[in-house]
Amino acid sequence: MTRPSQADIYAALAAQSSSSFRKPAAPTAPYSAFPDPSSELITPSGSGPSRVNCTRVYCPREGCGSLILMDRAGEVLESDVEVLPYHTGSPFPPPNFPPSSPEKASATKLHYLYIPSPFHFENIGYSRPDKSMALPPGSPGLQGVPSGSGQSKGVEGNGKGKVKWLICAECDLGPVGWGFEGMEGGWVDMRRVRYPAPAAASAEKEKEE
Ligand SMILES: [Zn+2]
Repeated sequence: MTRPSQADIYAALAAQSSSSFRKPAAPTAPYSAFPDPSSELITPSGSGPSRVNCTRVYCPREGCGSLILMDRAGEVLESDVEVLPYHTGSPFPPPNFPPSSPEKASATKLHYLYIPSPFHFENIGYSRPDKSMALPPGSPGLQGVPSGSGQSKGVEGNGKGKVKWLICAECDLGPVGWGFEGMEGGWVDMRRVRYPAPAAASAEKEKEE
């Protein structure tokens, strides 16, 4: 009886892992593909004054496309604060995106999604608490969850915990958002994730109606 060689075992493992990633990639589009994100990606929640994401949210990595969030699962926050660190060479848009212009000051607010607990995500990974970084002043979540937020019930954290980065649960790409040690909720930068490609998005909407 011959035992499989180590090379055979490695080959089998490699075949297995590549096939598990070879799934039909959803046709997704970056935030920049939407000329008017405020109307194309955001919708009134239908109850109360808050706004929510109106399409599904996917991992930004080409060829991954893991589903991160269902439509209407995140509450939209507007902010002027660039929260996530940016490194040249990262796949994410630079901090000055979209470029601000004085005439369009209101249109250049940054959009973040607040998700009240890990269970409201479809798939998400959390990094270990990052002791080396503090978020810039004014970052959503630093002062706790805004009162009046319909989903804030039961959230006691005040953002004093260490930062934890949100990453794709499938391929580890990130950060696409942040959370805090000891706090349930998370925030996703809407510029760092992907959405159904515009044609697919309208088809999805029509299907709902
Ligand atoms: Zn991914």
